[in-house]
Amino acid sequence: MRTDFTEEQRADPDIAESEKILRKCTHCGFCTATCPTYLLLGDELDSPRGRIYLLKNMLASGTAPSAEAVKHIDRCLSCLACMTTCPSGVNYMHLVDHGRRWIEQTYRRPWSERMLRRMLGTVLPQPALFRLALRAAALAKPLLPVLPGSLKPMVALAPPKIPVSAPAERERVHPAAGERRMRVALLPGCVQPVLAPEINAATIRLLTRHGCEVVIAARSGCCGSLNHHLGQEREALARARANVDAWEHERAAGGLDAILANASGCGTTLKDYGFMLREDRAYAEKAAAVAALARDVSELVSGLGLGAPAANPGRGLRVAYHSACSMQHGQRLHKLPMTLLAQVGFDVVEVPEGHLCCGSAGTYNLLQPDLAARLRDRKLANLASTRANLVATGNIGCISQLAGASEVPVVHTVELLDWATGGPEPPALKRYKGRGRNRAGTSHDSPSAAAPTMLGSSHPAAPAASRSPAAPSSTQATVIGSWPSSEPAA
Ligand code: SF4
Ligand code: SF4
Repeated sequence: MRTDFTEEQRADPDIAESEKILRKCTHCGFCTATCPTYLLLGDELDSPRGRIYLLKNMLASGTAPSAEAVKHIDRCLSCLACMTTCPSGVNYMHLVDHGRRWIEQTYRRPWSERMLRRMLGTVLPQPALFRLALRAAALAKPLLPVLPGSLKPMVALAPPKIPVSAPAERERVHPAAGERRMRVALLPGCVQPVLAPEINAATIRLLTRHGCEVVIAARSGCCGSLNHHLGQEREALARARANVDAWEHERAAGGLDAILANASGCGTTLKDYGFMLREDRAYAEKAAAVAALARDVSELVSGLGLGAPAANPGRGLRVAYHSACSMQHGQRLHKLPMTLLAQVGFDVVEVPEGHLCCGSAGTYNLLQPDLAARLRDRKLANLASTRANLVATGNIGCISQLAGASEVPVVHTVELLDWATGGPEPPALKRYKGRGRNRAGTSHDSPSAAAPTMLGSSHPAAPAASRSPAAPSSTQATVIGSWPSSEPAA
């Protein structure tokens, strides 16, 4: 793509970088084939190629973009499917990240949007504030029909009950069971420990059982990606620097073999710290070192060798693996988590249209609720077509997006790996079975219910989106009945 930035503009390192990216684009349009928003809306300006033109024009103009350009760039999920498809190596992620910063700095959004985005960027990264907000949202649920439109998605998505934090997370150092093979830092995260503390607890159990000492470094926390994708660069970089400092301290104190994320959205950002802080003389080198140590938890686990899979109580369960965009497109990890699940005895199936986003995408489901709901429903229909007993994925955003509307439990991959190698049953599975028994008024291991082995094996599975509102409860009773009869009643 031809660009005509001035020398003065090129003196800005961000512009210089974006120009390099833009020049790689040959306008071939291959990327449009896998873009979820282009698929839904059919508008070139909602495709990667269209957005690349918008971004180029916006940056070249040196001024605030039009409301129209902002609309199309805001609709981008940052799912990065276009990067996987692009044959020319266009780094759309860095380009759109720059574009979002530019918009944040130059464009004046309507007041309500500014407040909403500021609120999301302040509350979500801070677990204590987020917990308070969830409590308020739970109280506000009865008022849902009369709430302002911008608040509705937040209140609707808030879980009715907020889990208590896992005791394991309150300790800083978790010693390896037996001989120590590695010392690793786990990113504690921000939203995940509030919504699903069982994920960090399962990660810690799994890793310590396999010889890792797991450290939650003091003053490590949110990776910064929530702010980063809102264009709130100052806040994003402040959070990145705080994590770099925390892990530098741990490295100096006891060494670190890896820095782990168990939310793939966070992992993608950790791996990009070197780029994000490249212009910061005090942090560039340290951030690059952190990025080089950053791993998704599945990458580390694959090198450890999983023990005792023969005892997996869930052996044979059919697991639909939902490959989070940040995992498959951001980190290019797709087969690995499925291989691990299969190694410990699960029957793993891929999901049709697996390259498409589920609509979660950080704060996207709060800021673009209609498009997010369409993508969620499409994903749920594809998941249902696999006739799986449960869904596994490696990102809390996807779990939150899908679990509320899914007819089968949605759990994190590490919860299944932990369960298969000696850990407790994932709470979502227990809740699910208990819920089904209450509705069906029968135990899941009753003789009449035990025969089917897959979702919908007594009834043809219909796409979730096409089911009547009354269908889920009866289908759930069938699914509960399909649970292996060797499972103890919850
Ligand atoms: S596939 Fe790559 S080179 Fe082709 S239009 Fe899309 S971004 Fe540009
Ligand atoms: S990141 Fe996703 S939504 Fe955005 S342009 Fe690329 S494929 Fe489309």
